[in-house]
Amino acid sequence: MANDYYATLGVRRDASPDEVKKAYRRLARELHPDVNPDPETQEKFKEITQAYEVLSDPQKREMYDMGADPFARGGAGAGAGGFGAAGFPFSDIMDAFFGTASARGPRSRARRGRNATLRVELDLNETAFGTTRELSIDTAVACTSCQGEGTAPGTRPETCETCEGHGEVVMRQRSFLGEVRTARPCPQCGGFGSVIRTPCPECSGDGRVRTRRTVKVKIPAGVENGIHIQLAGEGEVGPGGGPPGDLFLEIVEKPHAIFEREGDDLHCTVEIPMTAAALGTSVTVETLDGAEDVDIKPGTQSGQVITLYGRGVRHLNESGRGDLLIHVTVETPGRLDEEQEELLRRLAKLRGEERPPGKFAPGQRGVFSRLRDVFNQH
Ligand SMILES: [Zn+2]
Ligand SMILES: [Zn+2]
Repeated sequence: MANDYYATLGVRRDASPDEVKKAYRRLARELHPDVNPDPETQEKFKEITQAYEVLSDPQKREMYDMGADPFARGGAGAGAGGFGAAGFPFSDIMDAFFGTASARGPRSRARRGRNATLRVELDLNETAFGTTRELSIDTAVACTSCQGEGTAPGTRPETCETCEGHGEVVMRQRSFLGEVRTARPCPQCGGFGSVIRTPCPECSGDGRVRTRRTVKVKIPAGVENGIHIQLAGEGEVGPGGGPPGDLFLEIVEKPHAIFEREGDDLHCTVEIPMTAAALGTSVTVETLDGAEDVDIKPGTQSGQVITLYGRGVRHLNESGRGDLLIHVTVETPGRLDEEQEELLRRLAKLRGEERPPGKFAPGQRGVFSRLRDVFNQH
């Protein structure tokens, strides 16, 4: 015999989840066992709770609509809906509707340890190619004297007398529903259900001790300033023998004397005299891979960029490297002796540049006028 859950809650078959919830809430107030303790009402409460359990769960509701009933009497599916020995998930439903927080049983003393963050200063060579570091960290490790239990050798935690090991105490309060029972964590044992009478002298009952530990870490090539590397399980162990947290390495890249990093590309500036720029030359530049000769073509202009492909920082987690971009600055000679001035005047005359007209180009507008444009758009 199938149950008609829609009829039980008094809703249409196309009722929205909200309507189902409202209908159940209204009935639950009337039929709550604490308000109405007679057996018939309790039976009805059980029925509406079952109906709600099915109709409030989209998956179960869909199955029910197709003819399957998880609570059909005598059916193979009975009990499959997660109903406990009491027949219905009383506390779950009550929590959902009436906010009566209930701690379920004693909680474990073991908790996960905290994460730790460690700053690691690296120079450009290390971030560009990766490195291995031995790092000293102040951390908490499991107490070897008590194996994280927190109890003195030869002793065990004793069952709490206040809550008899349940970890929670039940309070009775009067409300519009009648008497409502609320479970609270036991104040005596803090919800653990047990009390440590003789704490381990080594760790004072915490189950862990502070120490300095060395970890050897491999830092991959291509990391940059501000990046966090996660080392799972290398953080502090938890209290009560709980699992360790993670260790995060925060990469701090020290500025380089010559190279400025932009992503995986490096930038540097090389100054060449005017004559070299005009006639062409070869200069030796510093790279991460050592000194390298670079050709300056005749007629090189100030601001021109020479790119050395693949001479930058290695890409993180993929092959290849960034580039090295050399920005050329042409130096104009400042002080000239008589002979040099004479030569330059002759050169100017030869090139017809004694009174150059000057080449005018559209001005590069300043930051302020561009900002003004942005504001004027709105
Ligand atoms: Zn200990
Ligand atoms: Zn207790």
